[in-house]
Amino acid sequence: MKNITHWIGGAAVEGGGRTADVFDPATGTVAGRVHLAAAEQVDEAVAAAAAAWPAWRDTSLVRRARVLFRFRELVDAHAGELAALISAEHGKVHSDALGEVARGLEVVEFACGIPHLLKGGFSEGVSTRVDSYSIRQPLGVVAGITPFNFPAMVPMWMFPIAIACGNAFVLKPSERDPSASLLMARLWKEAGLPDGVFNVVQGDKAAVDRLLEHPDVRAVSFVGSTPIARYVYEAGTAHGKRVQALGGAKNHMLVLPDADLDLVADAAVSAGFGSAGERCMAISVVLAVDPVGDELVDKIVSRVAELTVGPGDDPASQMGPLVTQVHRDKVASYLDLGVAEGAKLVIDGRRTPILGGGAAADTPGFWLGPTLLDHVPAGSRVHTEEIFGPVLAIVRVSSYEEGLKLINDGEYGNGTAIFTNDGGAARRFQNEVEVGMIGINVPIPVPMAFYSFGGWKASLFGDTHVHGTEGVHFYTRGKVVTSRWLDPSHGGVNLGFPTNA
Ligand code: NAD
Repeated sequence: MKNITHWIGGAAVEGGGRTADVFDPATGTVAGRVHLAAAEQVDEAVAAAAAAWPAWRDTSLVRRARVLFRFRELVDAHAGELAALISAEHGKVHSDALGEVARGLEVVEFACGIPHLLKGGFSEGVSTRVDSYSIRQPLGVVAGITPFNFPAMVPMWMFPIAIACGNAFVLKPSERDPSASLLMARLWKEAGLPDGVFNVVQGDKAAVDRLLEHPDVRAVSFVGSTPIARYVYEAGTAHGKRVQALGGAKNHMLVLPDADLDLVADAAVSAGFGSAGERCMAISVVLAVDPVGDELVDKIVSRVAELTVGPGDDPASQMGPLVTQVHRDKVASYLDLGVAEGAKLVIDGRRTPILGGGAAADTPGFWLGPTLLDHVPAGSRVHTEEIFGPVLAIVRVSSYEEGLKLINDGEYGNGTAIFTNDGGAARRFQNEVEVGMIGINVPIPVPMAFYSFGGWKASLFGDTHVHGTEGVHFYTRGKVVTSRWLDPSHGGVNLGFPTNA
C-alpha cells in the first residue's frame, strides 16, 4: 500500500490524523493512502514557505531562471514516470498523461523567461530632472489548490510562474490523485530550489479552509468545480487575499452546414471522449445546425465503434476509466435522465466492451464507455449541467443565431468552438460569443503558455486568468518610483499639489 505524504521544507512529512484511500480506477482497488492535513500541517508548510521566501526573493533573476531551466530538463527526463503516476491514480491513458506533462512544461518554459517578463517601464524626465519607473515585486507565500483531472498540468499552470516571480508556494493537490505532486517536489529539490520554496500539503476541505484564512498566505489560485471556486473566491477575498478561482464548464461546438463533417466528427469524438470527458475544455455539447444532424450523428457513431476503452497503462487503450466510483455513478445517472428528458440514447456507454473485461457496467473498476445522446432538448439538464464524463449531447438547432443564443444563455463560459469554412461567420462568432477561450475549427482551444487561460461567467471568479502575462501579474505587485537627484533648482517650499513642469 502506497503511503502518500506531504512535502514541507524539502522533505516528506506525515500527519494530519486522517487519511483517504487513493484508488486504481482501472480495477477499483485501493492502491494507496494519502495523509490529509489538519490546520497544523498547513501552518507548518506556510511557515516553511515564509522562512524560505526572503532569501528566494533576493535571489537574482538569472539564478532563479537557472533553477527553472534545470527543473524543465528534469521534468522532461521524468515525463514517463510522471505520466505513469498520473495514469495509475487518475485513469487516463499513458499517452494522454504525457500530453498533460508536455502542456505543463510549456508553462515552465515560459517562466524561464522571467528576467524579461519582469522588466518594468522607465520614463526619463516626467518633470524637470525627475524620472519615474515601475517595478513588480513578489507577494510572499502563495497557494495553489488544484483538481483531480490534471494532477501535473494544472499545478504547473501556477507554480512555475509564482516561483519564478520570487514567491514561495504551497500546493494543495486533489486528494484523489496526489502522487504526481510529490515527484514534482523532488524534482524541484534536485533542480536546486531552496527547501521551503515549494511545499505540498495533501488534504481536503480542512486544508483548503486553513489556507484561505491563514494570514501569511497572500494569494490563492484555485482550479476546480464552480461551487467550490465560488466558495474559495468569496472566503479568500473575505480574508483579504488575492484570488483567481477557475470553475467548471459546459463547452459547445457549433457546427455550421458548410463544415467538413468528417473533420467535425473526428474533432467531436476526440474532444468529447479524450480523457473520458474529464477535461474542463472537453466538448460536451454539439450544436448541429440543420440539416447536418443525421449525417453527423452517423459519422460520430462509426468513429466511436472503433474506439478501444481499457486500462490507462495498456498501450492499446484510447480511453480509460473514470476517477472514482462515485463520479462514475453520477456521470452514468445522466444516461437515464437524458432519456427521461426526451433525448435518444444512441450509444450506451454502460455496454461498451472493456479491454480485458466485459461490458463497462459489469467490469470491476470505474468504467463507463463513450455515450451519445441525440435530440437532447435545449435547456434540459443533460444540455446545461456539467457532467464531466464521456457523455456527448447533440442538440439540433435551426440556425447560427439559435446556436449562439444557447451558448450565451449558458451558466458557463470556459471554452467553445465553431466549425465552418466561412471566415465571416467565424469572425462574427469570436466577436459575439460570451466565452473566454474560442476555437475556430479547433475543438479544444487551450491557450499556449504565453497566452493566459481562463473562462468567463461561472467558469472563473476573479479578474485574472492563469499563466501567460496575466499569471505574472497575479503573482506580483506593482510599485511606481518617482525619483530626483536634488540640486539647487529643486529648493523652495511649495504647499501646492505637485504638477509636472
Ligand atoms: P473539486 O471542486 O471537487 O475539487 C477541486 C479542489 O478543491 C480539490 O483540491 C479539492 O480537494 C478541493 N475541495 C473539494 N471540495 C471542497 C470543499 N468543500 N471545500 C474546500 N475545498 C474543496 O473539483 P474536481 O472534481 O477535483 O475537478 C473537476 C472540476 O474541475 C470540474 O468541474 C472541472 O470543470 C473543473 N476544472 C476546471 C478547469 C478550468 O480551467 N476552469 C480546469 C480543470 C478542471
